[in-house]
Amino acid sequence: MTRYAGIAFEDRMATVEFRVAERPHISVDSRVCEGCSTKACVTACPADLFALTADGGILFNYEQCFECGTCYMVCNEEGAISWSYPDGGMGVVFHHG
Ligand code: SF4
Ligand code: SF4
Repeated sequence: MTRYAGIAFEDRMATVEFRVAERPHISVDSRVCEGCSTKACVTACPADLFALTADGGILFNYEQCFECGTCYMVCNEEGAISWSYPDGGMGVVFHHG
């Protein structure tokens, strides 16, 4: 299990609310990912939203995205990730305290 500063990943995720928009704000072209040698998104995404498929592609789920942009920055192949912010009022809501 992934841990950050002694807090379980699941506990940390439980403090975040996601207003899921109908339109995915990130899309991943799994065909492009098949040629990717690093698969950097799988380890870089703090919300663990990228999963390798058996045929070398990527399965992606936008619903619990932190909108941090890390996947877009580490992506190894041009055109694999289309990134935008969710529609107004939707997306991640961080709770403090
Ligand atoms: S923007 Fe951040 S949280 Fe969202 S999918 Fe990319 S790396 Fe993961
Ligand atoms: S780093 Fe980019 S090209 Fe490589 S698997 Fe992830 S999304 Fe696909």
